[in-house]
Amino acid sequence: MEIILNSGKRMPSIGLGTWKSAPNKVKEAVGTAIDVGYRHIDCAYLYKNEHEIGAALKEKFNQNVIKREDIFITTKLWNTFHKPADVLPAFNASLNNLGLNYIDLYLIHFPCGYKNSGPNVYHPKDENGDHIYDDTDYMSTWKELEKLLSSGQVRSIGVSNFNEYQLNRILNEGSIVPAVNQVECHPYLCQDKMIEFCKSHSIAVVGYSPFGSPDRYWASPDETSLLEEPTIVGIAKRHGKTTAQVILRFNIQRGVTVIPKSVTPSRIESNFDIFNFTLNEEDMDSILKLNRNWRALDLVWDKKHKYYPFRDNYSE
Ligand code: NDP
Repeated sequence: MEIILNSGKRMPSIGLGTWKSAPNKVKEAVGTAIDVGYRHIDCAYLYKNEHEIGAALKEKFNQNVIKREDIFITTKLWNTFHKPADVLPAFNASLNNLGLNYIDLYLIHFPCGYKNSGPNVYHPKDENGDHIYDDTDYMSTWKELEKLLSSGQVRSIGVSNFNEYQLNRILNEGSIVPAVNQVECHPYLCQDKMIEFCKSHSIAVVGYSPFGSPDRYWASPDETSLLEEPTIVGIAKRHGKTTAQVILRFNIQRGVTVIPKSVTPSRIESNFDIFNFTLNEEDMDSILKLNRNWRALDLVWDKKHKYYPFRDNYSE
């Protein structure tokens, strides 16, 4: 199943997430994903594993399992590269890491910039341990992505973690409508308003952390597990599916692309097996009712940033 982006390009509705996928595991994970039928991989400079993903892709190209044009690769501009002069070198670094000559979708990872302190300093911090922010206006970063698009090295451009106010600025001040806004989206954070807003502006929504990102390093051991949520367990039993499959299917049926992360071959395979059943209206409604506006990624460290996206009454 695919979504047609406003750029005219096709994006498969399910991709493999790769955040936290260790370098010694991600190559096999990507290989398994391609073998079971994934044709979309979600990457980022931040994840420090683009190189390994590139090696997995190269292997599959060399084995003639897939051609470059058969697979959709997303990667993201990290926060330390928001200054206009830093965008092209950062893009080229990702392209190089992945061993590709074009990227299907390039996203601004977050609206919040950090001080560029060299290619290996992802989270520059001051003596108090606080992030050193850079207030480059995301509009000037966006204009560099527009230039990249006209260079032909990227097929579609978009953003991630942008709120409505920030998207509206791009719609009003930019020349290109973002193809995608990638945001956290799952039954505890259904994102109805964002989905509706994006739909009305032909922006596709890619939902990250579909399972609530249980392996993120700051997860609390006593937090409620989305994968064990009783309502979803009940629905899964009725359909003879796993809770993970129901969670993914829920987003697919709302037109939201899913990018579940796994390095476990059996999970990679079962997460892809979501196109042979349908959740009925009652199932969908009861999952929607689980919404509690809970964020796995609330970006506490960015709360003082001028462009922190999850503030109420946002106006920057
Ligand atoms: P997910 O919600 O995808 O959860 C990943 C965790 O779920 C891993 O521990 C994985 O374990 C486990 N898991 C996967 N499948 C199953 C299954 N079928 N049954 C039980 N457990 C399962 O978390 P992420 O935060 O990684 O989100 C997915 C992707 O979204 C990221 O990897 C990244 O590509 C993207 N993302 C983008 C962000 C952005 O700011 N744009 C922010 C966060 C994520 P295991 O691997 O051990 O199998």
